[in-house]
Amino acid sequence: MRVSVVGAGLGGLALAQGLRGAGIEADVFERDPKISARFQGYRLVLNPTGFQAVRDCLPTRWHPLLDEIVMDASAEQLVLDTKLNEIGRLGAGRTGIVVDRQVLRHLLLTGLTVHTDAALTGYDVLADGQVQARFAHRDPATADLLVGADGITSAVRRVLSPRTAPTDTGVRFVIGRTPLTDEFAGLSKAYGSKIAGDGVSLLLGAMRFRTPPKQAAERLAPEVTLPDIGDYVRWAMILPSNGNGSPAELTAQDAVLSRMEGWHPELRALIEQADPDNSTLLSIRVVKPGERWASGPVTLLGDAIHATSPTGGNCATPTCCAAA
Ligand SMILES: Cc1cc2nc3c(=O)[nH]c(=O)nc-3n(C[C@H](O)[C@H](O)[C@H](O)COP(=O)(O)OP(=O)(O)OC[C@H]3O[C@@H](n4cnc5c(N)ncnc54)[C@H](O)[C@@H]3O)c2cc1C
Repeated sequence: MRVSVVGAGLGGLALAQGLRGAGIEADVFERDPKISARFQGYRLVLNPTGFQAVRDCLPTRWHPLLDEIVMDASAEQLVLDTKLNEIGRLGAGRTGIVVDRQVLRHLLLTGLTVHTDAALTGYDVLADGQVQARFAHRDPATADLLVGADGITSAVRRVLSPRTAPTDTGVRFVIGRTPLTDEFAGLSKAYGSKIAGDGVSLLLGAMRFRTPPKQAAERLAPEVTLPDIGDYVRWAMILPSNGNGSPAELTAQDAVLSRMEGWHPELRALIEQADPDNSTLLSIRVVKPGERWASGPVTLLGDAIHATSPTGGNCATPTCCAAA
């Protein structure tokens, strides 16, 4: 059996790893011209079931490495005002495992056959029941099963279920990261907390790797190459859809700073010193359940059929592992 997986996001790669582990051949086709073509690095919280699903997709020899490049989700959930005074408690935090998406993606890429610059444009189900995928810049590929793991704008979904389409809620999610230097140690009670401003909230979460990913891979699984990144603070602000949303011309940092007049100087410094390559402004879109599609050799997985909220912490990878 041969499977074509469209999309080298977390879902498609986890599926391909799971298939590889089950002895099933899989090719991954990715639209981006290269794996590192765009912003991919933010912190994800996976619930324990989801994290276990990721482990189950990976060879057991990589489990010690996986465990070394994550952290436990913080249980502290305070509400602070913009001067960092405690004004409430949200109760115990979610139990979960925190991973860096870029680091996890590199682990998931290891050992797979991934074709980049391969944007799917359509597919045809052949008379013998196989499916042939068509691409913009490469020859068609034939497989027994085609899985659209090509994210919220899925080209596979457009053919399989054309009336199922995402809607832009108008809400904007600004996310970025700032190296976790000594300068920001004093902010530690704010990590895992919500800073409540005037009509907006800033969410801060530290990413502290148990071992820096590159060193962990060199020591525990030399065949894996992981990015050379250190600890950081992930910050995020949701800008409501009320006409006051961030103008498109603002950078992610400026969009957040424009809502932080008079805030504690360390909070402003945290945003000012962010890594611009890993800070971005995203649209929150939803996909309403649509028509059922006919059974056949084509299916969908992950955000292609279920738009996952950036704040839900549930579905970055489990669906694909279930499919595997
Ligand atoms: C800021 C942010 C924070 C988040 N935080 C969390 C969290 O804490 N916990 C959690 O569980 N989830 C979180 N999520 C959601 C989670 O990241 C997604 O659900 C998950 O990454 C979706 O994976 P995917 O593989 O389905 O899609 P994607 O990661 O979107 O991957 C799709 C891939 O398909 C490629 N592609 C697109 N079109 C084509 C085409 N025509 N041909 C070939 N390739 C194509 C794309 O280039 C991309 O590489 C967050 C999301 C965001 C944006």
